[in-house]
Amino acid sequence: MNIHEYQAKTLLKGFGMPVLDGRVARSPDEAVTAARALRAPLVVVKAQIHAGGRGAGHFADDPGGKGGVRLARTPEEAEQAASAMLDHTLVTRQTGPAGRIVRRLYVEAGCDIARELYLSLLVDRADGRIVIVASQDGGMAIEDVAAAAAERILKEPIDPATGLSDYQARNLAARLDLHGKSIRAFTAVLRAAYDAFTALDAAIVEINPLVVTGTGEMVALDAKMSFDDNALFRHPELEELRDENEEDPREREAARHGLAYVGLDGTIGCMVNGAGLAMATMDIIKMEGEEPANFLDVGGGATRERVAAAFRILLSDSKVRGILVNIFGGIMRCDIIAEAIVAASRDTGLHVPLVVRLAGTNVAQGRDILSRSGLRIIPAEDLGDAARKIVAAVRGETTPATGAEGAA
Ligand code: ADP
Ligand code: MG
Repeated sequence: MNIHEYQAKTLLKGFGMPVLDGRVARSPDEAVTAARALRAPLVVVKAQIHAGGRGAGHFADDPGGKGGVRLARTPEEAEQAASAMLDHTLVTRQTGPAGRIVRRLYVEAGCDIARELYLSLLVDRADGRIVIVASQDGGMAIEDVAAAAAERILKEPIDPATGLSDYQARNLAARLDLHGKSIRAFTAVLRAAYDAFTALDAAIVEINPLVVTGTGEMVALDAKMSFDDNALFRHPELEELRDENEEDPREREAARHGLAYVGLDGTIGCMVNGAGLAMATMDIIKMEGEEPANFLDVGGGATRERVAAAFRILLSDSKVRGILVNIFGGIMRCDIIAEAIVAASRDTGLHVPLVVRLAGTNVAQGRDILSRSGLRIIPAEDLGDAARKIVAAVRGETTPATGAEGAA
């Protein structure tokens, strides 16, 4: 789960992270009130969306114009910035061309920036540890730094037995060319980030930029946090930070049913059991020249209701122009899958081509249920056959639907 910058700053502040004063605004009027309340000579109006690169982004209705982070010297300028951003679509490197509608702003005190550093904490899966990533080249996308000068990215793994140690922090501070009181300030920043990360079961804490001010203080000027979904049950207080406007409605519905589902941009809906088979199915669709609309592993222990819910998500996805069901019945039985497909198709209506490949446990019963259903199903022999048939069907190249008698 991701949260907004202002929410991450509030959480991190609770762990001792230095942040500037700021207020949330949902209307231009609120932006004016916020700007006045901050009593700062300069405020910054920042679009709150779950994507980075806002400063360098642009609004869809003003392609050459300013981005989602704007300076305002007066409350009137704050109002203008807010009007230009709220309810408008911000396009950044991370949003993709469709962009995101801005519904909230963060109005923050302006900062006197001497240096912009990069700092993040994340789990290194290969290493099985939390790793600190830091760089002197903050402010820009870390991917660009990695591409241009990988040696300028510092990595420091944290031993889970001892946790973050002060010498690690001081060592990193020296490698970031920090001096004087900035060293102690950096140690405090790192401690706050690490404590928040571990206490809240974060997946990432990213401060970009981490600013050194003209007087040597440190401030987290941007903050991104995301949390491990599998640990969210331990943090009910985080649930209220969820912004459903920022989430894929298909994934939200899937999560309600406990399904392993990831929404994608293609046209072929996939229902598969087993993560490996699901990945292979997506690969083979791509090899045939089309794109999958989702990753979906219905798993081994899924009930008929859960599988039917999964099939309904595929059917109600307007991007889906064809569905490929690829089930190797092991623990999951083919007859359960077949019954779920029939039930969901009755509810929602099967309005796109459906290719089904079934094999394994209770395959005969599964095929029988599908053939008696009267649904128009294109049966497939194996994975390659299934991929070719669904790709041909969404391209309208053939109409090989054989009707009930040939099902699966
Ligand atoms: P994003 O990463 O989405 O572009 P940031 O919060 O990092 O958004 O802002 C982009 C840039 O805007 C920062 O690198 C910094 O230079 C500037 N900036 C952001 N917040 C402030 C602030 N409160 N005061 C002064 N400059 C700021
Ligand atoms: Mg940033």
